[in-house]
Amino acid sequence: MAASLVFRLHDRGPDLVREVLLERGWEEYDEDKREEEDWNLYWRGSAFKNSDYLNLLPWQRLNHHPKTTGITRKDFLARNLRRMRATLGSSLYDFSPTAFILPNDYTRFLPEYNKLRLTRGASVYWICKPVDLSRGRGIFIFEDIKDLVYDSSVIVQRYISDPLLISGYKFDLRIYVCVKTFHPLTVYIHQEGLVRFATEKYNLSSLKNLYAHLTNTSINKFGPFYKTQKERVGQGCKWTMSKFRHFLHSQDINENLLWQRINNIVILTLLTIASSVPSCPNCVELFGFDILLDVNFKPWLLEVNYSPALTLDCQADITVKKRLIGDMIDLMSYTLVDSLRVKAFQREAHKKSCFHANHSPDALMPVLPKFKETKFKKERKKSQFIHTQTLPMLKMTGHIQKINQRHSVKSSFLANNQRQLPPVALNKIQEAKGRIITEPHTDKTINLTLGPHSRTNKSVVNRQTGPAPAPWTRVNGSLCQSEVTNCEEPETEAENELSAETDFSSIIHEIPKRELGFRCSAAPWKLRDVKGTNRTKGISFDGNTALNKHVPPLRVGDFIRTFPFNTATLKASQHELDIKVIKRELHKLTGQLAKSEKKRSREEEEVKKDKDGEEDFDSLLWGPKDPPLISQCLKNNL
Ligand code: ADP
Repeated sequence: MAASLVFRLHDRGPDLVREVLLERGWEEYDEDKREEEDWNLYWRGSAFKNSDYLNLLPWQRLNHHPKTTGITRKDFLARNLRRMRATLGSSLYDFSPTAFILPNDYTRFLPEYNKLRLTRGASVYWICKPVDLSRGRGIFIFEDIKDLVYDSSVIVQRYISDPLLISGYKFDLRIYVCVKTFHPLTVYIHQEGLVRFATEKYNLSSLKNLYAHLTNTSINKFGPFYKTQKERVGQGCKWTMSKFRHFLHSQDINENLLWQRINNIVILTLLTIASSVPSCPNCVELFGFDILLDVNFKPWLLEVNYSPALTLDCQADITVKKRLIGDMIDLMSYTLVDSLRVKAFQREAHKKSCFHANHSPDALMPVLPKFKETKFKKERKKSQFIHTQTLPMLKMTGHIQKINQRHSVKSSFLANNQRQLPPVALNKIQEAKGRIITEPHTDKTINLTLGPHSRTNKSVVNRQTGPAPAPWTRVNGSLCQSEVTNCEEPETEAENELSAETDFSSIIHEIPKRELGFRCSAAPWKLRDVKGTNRTKGISFDGNTALNKHVPPLRVGDFIRTFPFNTATLKASQHELDIKVIKRELHKLTGQLAKSEKKRSREEEEVKKDKDGEEDFDSLLWGPKDPPLISQCLKNNL
């Protein structure tokens, strides 16, 4: 029997998440009716507390990884990118405009400002942004340093003054990126996204006109021309990414290369924090990457948003965001393990967190933390509700076997606790008074658990998402940072500013490392190749090799796996991140795509030979609507 999954929304929002989950048959958490820990997904716009991570139960997920402010706060991002540039070279990390964090960097900014002013013929412009605000607040553009006035910490960044324009309007791209795990780094980019336009024509002689220079919807929807027809842009200020692709097709550009360069930006940015984020396999996070294209189609990273806005302002939002959240839920790969929540709440024996590091055999049993006395619990005490509920539940479950070996009961729980799906034939899903109830594991059961609206076939999602008995591994050199970020969800901002407690370094337990990788689907997932036929050849999901066990699905809904993208990057991210290998592979792939429209040279022939010999690992080319396999794409073009 598949139980409903329960979601919990902090501050009753976002509405879109509620809508999508209710449509899929989930139930909303109600603190008057449920125990404190009785939920499968907790969604917050702001940061979670340390204790939220430490007390996570096997069936619980959070929508943020810990410590990702290293990229979502403007000053941290600038500092991290600068560090990577110094280590790995500016040719790779050349995608973010030069930035200075003021007041500290003022003495570095001044000579740079003077140098550019003296040496460059054309004017040089700068943009000043408060580090801890979002949605365009407090931003201004200046040319002359006498106009630089600030009273809080800000970043001053080179202003990209030659943006690509459509009918004279500036725009940027909102790319949705989901990090499934940081250990191993596993990244998906959603194929749909948004293009956000300014609502007045771009003009460098009016730097104060924010409707011409900023592309934030929160600003432009209040502009005088928001509802006006703006030539090719149309009404409003947003396009879907699909519409933008139509525009690109009308231009003579190498679209694949553009998407690959954006892909590189996403990966290289995540690499700046990947090794300092504690491992928390029960977390998944959605980031909003803002990318500006210049007149040469070079993509620039402007910022990374924590909790990208999920408000629905127009039709483009509805088309993109609803599907995005649905796909994200599918990416979380809810399985039967998650329905253990229901069973666990019907046992009173378990009184403490399953993540407590106690090595006695009895401690292997997953147990619940001490619950707060909720209204519900007080009521239940009165009526002794718990005992009357257990029996009907057992009867309903069907096949009941008596197994008296206590050891196997523990093993069953340990297995569940590690989020391994039970054996295909019989799922041991419940223990009660020395008995294990077994239940046939049917397709129906899994599909029910995923929900009726899941667009993801059970064989596409991972059967094992890998959460560990404990959510942390020790991290070297952890950042000590506040949680003020580029959070776009308006209602959560004040809280973000308050929850500045997240320095995990002192409280992270040393937990033995366990295998966190992906388990292959039972059946190979068929995808369409460029000719439209189903292709399975070359996709090594048969679990034959140890490495293959870790191959995450190529796509889940419209999320395309963009990292790891080949065997080398898979290997390079399994244990310690080997950034040099990743850098080399990104470089190689981008180089191949860049050259792909030119005549095949001897050098390219060599690269192709390398590739043919090495790859049994396929990746889709993120970007196109019907993404071809990268290998196919290179073969066609070389
Ligand atoms: P916020 O978090 O307040 O949205 P952003 O960094 O995203 O701050 O900047 C807001 C807008 O300003 C962007 O969407 C973009 O239109 C514009 N912008 C920001 N930085 C630059 C830049 N370096 N060059 C050109 N335009 C920029």
